[in-house]
Amino acid sequence: MSGRLIAALLLLAVPLAVAAWGLGGYAAQRERNNADTRLLDSFNSADAAYRRLVSDLDSAATRLANKPRVQHELVRGGRRAVVWQMRMDGQQAPWHGPVPSPAAVRKVDFLSKGRTIGQVIVFLRLDRQLVEWLSPRAHLGDHERLGLADGGRLLGKERTLPIQSGPVRVGRADIRVGGVDFRSDAERLVSTKSGAKLVALERSSYIDSKVNRARWRVMGLGFAVIAALLALAYAMSPSLARTRVSREERERSDRVLAHVGDGVFLVDRDGVIRHWNPAAEAITGLRSDAVCDRPAEETIPGWPGIAARVPVASRPGDADDASSAETVPLEIDGREVWLSIVGVTLADGIVYAFRDVTRERRLEDLRAQFVATISHELRTPLASLHGAAMTLLEREHDLHEQTRHDLLDMIAVQSKRLAGLVEEILLTGQLDSGSLRVVTEPFEPEELVWAAAAAARLRVGEDTTIDVAIPALLPKVAGDAERTRQVLANLIDNAIKYSPQGGRIELGVEADGGFVRFTVRDEGLGIPLGEQKRIFEKFYRLDPDHRRGIGGSGLGLYICRELVRSMNGRIWVESDPGKGATFTFELPVAERVSVPA
Ligand code: ADP
Repeated sequence: MSGRLIAALLLLAVPLAVAAWGLGGYAAQRERNNADTRLLDSFNSADAAYRRLVSDLDSAATRLANKPRVQHELVRGGRRAVVWQMRMDGQQAPWHGPVPSPAAVRKVDFLSKGRTIGQVIVFLRLDRQLVEWLSPRAHLGDHERLGLADGGRLLGKERTLPIQSGPVRVGRADIRVGGVDFRSDAERLVSTKSGAKLVALERSSYIDSKVNRARWRVMGLGFAVIAALLALAYAMSPSLARTRVSREERERSDRVLAHVGDGVFLVDRDGVIRHWNPAAEAITGLRSDAVCDRPAEETIPGWPGIAARVPVASRPGDADDASSAETVPLEIDGREVWLSIVGVTLADGIVYAFRDVTRERRLEDLRAQFVATISHELRTPLASLHGAAMTLLEREHDLHEQTRHDLLDMIAVQSKRLAGLVEEILLTGQLDSGSLRVVTEPFEPEELVWAAAAAARLRVGEDTTIDVAIPALLPKVAGDAERTRQVLANLIDNAIKYSPQGGRIELGVEADGGFVRFTVRDEGLGIPLGEQKRIFEKFYRLDPDHRRGIGGSGLGLYICRELVRSMNGRIWVESDPGKGATFTFELPVAERVSVPA
C-alpha cells in the first residue's frame, strides 16, 4: 500500500473515529437520562399513591373528629388527644402511647364553646409495611426499588439498610446503601416534619451496564461503518488511482494537442468532427465551436474530395506517413490554404494531422516559374551568342569591319548578361545556405554613390538622366562597402530596366538618426501597392511571362533584401504605379560626424 494511500485512509479514519466516539458518548448520556426519567416515573407513581394515603388520612381524621363517641371521649374522658393509627388496609386502629415517627400525621382540633378541648390525631406509620404497600403501586422496573429514608437508614420492602453516603439529597443523586451504589430520586414526605423521604432507587451497576451497552452499540456500529468505508476505499483505491492517472494523462494529451503546431482533428465513423485543436483553428480560420460535433462534409469545404485523397494509415508510422501525406488545397472565405494532410485510423474514427504548406506551395510555384524564367533568360543570350559566333566563324572574311565589331560587342554584352545571371543564382545559393561572408567596416557612402552613378551613366541612353543628391556632411556607414555597392547597382539596374521610356533617375543619400539612408528614385512603371512587399520574395516577378519584354530572374530584390538585412539594415519601396518607384535602404552609422560650429 502506498504511503499516500495510508495517509488518505488515516485522514478519512481519524475524523470518523472521533465522530463515532462522540456519538457513543451521546448514546451513553441519553441512556443515563432515560434511566433517570424511568426512576422519576416510578417515584411519581409512588408519590401519587402516598398522597392518596395522606388524603385518606385527612378524611379519616375529619370523620373521626365528627363521631359523637370520640367527642364524648374527649369531653367526658378528659383526654387531651385521641390517637389512631391508619392501617394499610384503610382501617384506623386506636393507638395508645406516644406517636412513633410517622410517615404522615393529621391533627384535627375539637372545639366546644369556642375553646379547644382536645385533638383527634390520625397517623401513618413510617415502616416497611408502607414501603411494601407503595412498591406495587410505583410500577417499579426490574431493577428498581422503593424505600423510605429516615435518618441514616433506608427502610426497604424486605429489610432496613444503613445509608453510607450521608443524608439523602432531594431530587436525583447517587447514594450508597448497604454497600451497594444506587441512583436515587427522592422527595421529602409532605405530611410530616420528620425529614423522612420517599426514595426510588436503581442499582448504579445496572444503569452503568445499560449505559455501556448503549455506548458500545453505537461505537461498534460507527467502527463497523469506518471499517467498511476503509475497506471500500482500499478496494477502490487502485481504480481511483487509475482513474486519476488516466484523467491526468487525458489532460496532458489535451494540453499537448492544444500546443502542437500541426492541426489535428478527429472525424468519427459517422463523419462527424469530434476534436479540432487550436492549431487547426489557427491554420484554417475555422473555429472549434463552429466545427465540432458537425459533419465534416458541411464544415470543411470540399471535404469529400479531400477525404478520398488523404492516405489513411492503420497506425502512426505505417507506410512512412510523412512521404505519403497528401497536399490539398482548401478554399476558406476566398482564401486558398494548402495543407499537407495524413490520417490514422482509431477505434472511434480517423484522426487527421495537417500542416500549413501554403508558403512552401507558393515557393514551389515560384520555383517552377523561375525555371521557366531562367530558361528564357538563358536561351535568349545563348541564341544570340551562338548566332554571332557562327556568323563570325563561317563568314568572318566576308563581313564588314563594323559588323564584325558589332557582333563581338554583342558577344561581350550577352556573355556579361549570362555571367550576371549566374552570379545572381550563386549569390542566392550562398544567402540561402548562410555561407555568404559580409564584413562590417566603416566606409564613406558618398564615394559609393558617385561611383554607382558614374557606372550607370555608361549604360543608359540619352533619354535617361542620372542625378545625385548628397548633403555636404555625411557620417560613415558600418557595413560591407562591396555588398552595399552591389545593392545600389541592383536598384539602379532595376530603375533603368523598369523605366522603358527613360526619364530621370535620382540617387540620394542622407543621414537620419543612427542610420544612413540610400534612395533610388525613378519615373518608370511603378509597382501596385499589393505587390510592394512580395517583390522582395525569392523568384517573385510582376511579369513572370515577360509580356512587357523586360527580362529578369526575380532574384535581384531578394538578394538586395538579404544583403541589407545581413548588414543590420532594412529595405522598402514606395511607389505610385505608372509614375515611378522609390527604393530606399538604410544601414547603421559607423560614427557620427561633428558639425563645425
Ligand atoms: P527581376 O530580375 O525580375 O528584375 P527583381 O527581384 O529585381 O527581379 O525584381 C522583382 C520584380 O519587382 C520585378 O520583376 C519587377 O516587376 C519589380 N521591380 C523591381 N524594381 C522595379 C522598379 N524600379 N520599377 C518597377 N518595378 C520594379
